[in-house]
Amino acid sequence: MRKYNYRQSPLVCLITAGLLVAGNLHAQHYDAHAAFAPTLYTQNGNAFRSAGGDPGPDYWQNRADYTLNASFDSSSHILKGIAEIDYTNNSSDPLPYIWLELDQNTEKPDALANILQPNNRKLSDKMGFQFAKVQVLQSGHWQDAQYKVLGTRMQLFLPVPLKGSGTKVQLRLDYSFELQKSSAADRAGYMQTPQGTIYEFGYWFPRVCVYDDVRGWNTLPFIGGGEFYFEYGDMDYTITAPAGMLAVGGGTLVNGKDVLDNKLYDQLQKARRSDKTVLIRSIQDIKSGIATKEKSGQVSWHFQMKNTRDVAFALSSAFIWDGAKINLAGGKTSFAQSVYPISSAQNDSSWVRATEYLKASVEDFSRRWFEYPYPEATNVAGPIGGMEYPGITFDHHAASGKSLFMLISHEIGHTWYPMIVGSDERRAPFMDEGFNTFIDIYAQQDFNHGEFAPKRDGEYAPGGGNPADEIVPVIASVQNGPTLMTPADWQDYKYVHPMSYFKTAFGLVLLREVILGPDRFDYAFRHYTAKWAYKHPMPTDFFRTVENAAGEDLGWFWRGWFYNNWQLDQAVTDVAYVDDDPTKGALITLKNKEKLPMPVSVEIRQDGGAPITVKLPVEIWQRGDSWTFRANTTSKLKSVEIDPKALLPEMDRSNNKWVGN
Ligand SMILES: [Zn+2]
Repeated sequence: MRKYNYRQSPLVCLITAGLLVAGNLHAQHYDAHAAFAPTLYTQNGNAFRSAGGDPGPDYWQNRADYTLNASFDSSSHILKGIAEIDYTNNSSDPLPYIWLELDQNTEKPDALANILQPNNRKLSDKMGFQFAKVQVLQSGHWQDAQYKVLGTRMQLFLPVPLKGSGTKVQLRLDYSFELQKSSAADRAGYMQTPQGTIYEFGYWFPRVCVYDDVRGWNTLPFIGGGEFYFEYGDMDYTITAPAGMLAVGGGTLVNGKDVLDNKLYDQLQKARRSDKTVLIRSIQDIKSGIATKEKSGQVSWHFQMKNTRDVAFALSSAFIWDGAKINLAGGKTSFAQSVYPISSAQNDSSWVRATEYLKASVEDFSRRWFEYPYPEATNVAGPIGGMEYPGITFDHHAASGKSLFMLISHEIGHTWYPMIVGSDERRAPFMDEGFNTFIDIYAQQDFNHGEFAPKRDGEYAPGGGNPADEIVPVIASVQNGPTLMTPADWQDYKYVHPMSYFKTAFGLVLLREVILGPDRFDYAFRHYTAKWAYKHPMPTDFFRTVENAAGEDLGWFWRGWFYNNWQLDQAVTDVAYVDDDPTKGALITLKNKEKLPMPVSVEIRQDGGAPITVKLPVEIWQRGDSWTFRANTTSKLKSVEIDPKALLPEMDRSNNKWVGN
């Protein structure tokens, strides 16, 4: 997620400046034994999660398939639904109860969100999810089940424990909730436009929590920051809404021919075949009321999405609609579409380019990392600032230009991390926001010959400068604060963007550009993505994968960058000549003054000849904080400079350079 705010950039700058002042720059001297301690992993690989970082031979995960039937009353804003959940227990443990997530319950007074973040919103037990029936299919009959609701969680007791090894149970929940202007901590909501209201539905049905081999039930409540951790399954959902509204949803619309006005259906087919954006529903169509085939009553929109953790949808009579073909490898295609109100289509840099941004982002992520698996990718303009769901994003209706590109590529990027690669966002925000911000850097670089490059925004180098320099005050500010391993809701939210997004993404850039090089890093990251697609990796699975696929022990980096906020300060401390004779070469002494070790790049300039670059591996710091090497120079040195391209997060660049006299 990313909250879109007109004043985002200056705000973020102010926060960063504040962090700089608060930063604690006292020296923390380097300890080689601590930096390279051989004890990063507290557990060995096992049959579920291999030592090499892949899912092991006995890896299992449970499964939840959903059939959802919902109807929306646009006058009361009440959505009524029946959720039938086929739950499969693939563990070997019998389960006497099942935990579900009820994220709309942040509207209730007892939700932890309202205690930890007091607010002025109207709260009531009548808001959030209301249950008419909670049932379990038992011996062919639906029977009422016992359950407890605890804030945003439900514990549903099974009449008999669900045996493991593939045994199934069917649950049925008849529920309703009233959509708020901003619901579920701004993951759903509505806004009025002159042509009709835009309704965005996320977190709109009860979802089963993950039961895994690491913790069993994952029941961290929804507080507002940490987002998904759900089981994969197929979702079949039908939304009944007033005629005249368009519906878009994650997955694919199954009955478009039956529900859409013929003209729109024909335009939709054209758009599916076109590399350029095709207008499906124009401003004139909105004014003429062209939308559904039926002009009155209710229309039921049938969607399906396979192999997904969630689905979201949006409804409105105010949508302009356009789309274009997404080109994937081997001639395969998908479809990019955007819906937005007339007010979002006022100039060339507005939502009229949204489909182009979406198509380019999906093609880039597919080419670089893992092929987009869903038949459609959808972009909705509305009140939500920037929120991701599998294959569908809710982005702010007033965004345009570079910030709209950034929002769209970021939110659809979440379809890769953490929706295809199903990590636990609530516990490991770096695997979600950070991995996604990292892939966004390259998508932005690649888009339209760098039209919006480089990526510099509230997620990545908010001051607009060199990320290696901008991360320094962030790291200084969290010396007693959260690390990248801290769950999203267990830290002050002011740290989430600088840390989970920026520090993670920059850490991966360091790994890719400095430590491993693009070839080795990209192989490892693709391997991780492919092996853990539609599964539940833990942070150590990622760390192990990169170490194995790249063939390096990177414990020092995970420890310094992810488990701690260690700072970096490399210095040139001495330059001498062999036998005091500049023609015989130079002896250059470097020092690692702070806790974080890193490889070293040294640029040496001498009186004659071209500059020499010497690259030294991180292993020079395994034996201590000082390293002297011999450079094969032949004349007096003019200068010796560490990190001449400013790629490293150096807290003190003043000692990076030695200048001769
Ligand atoms: Zn995000």
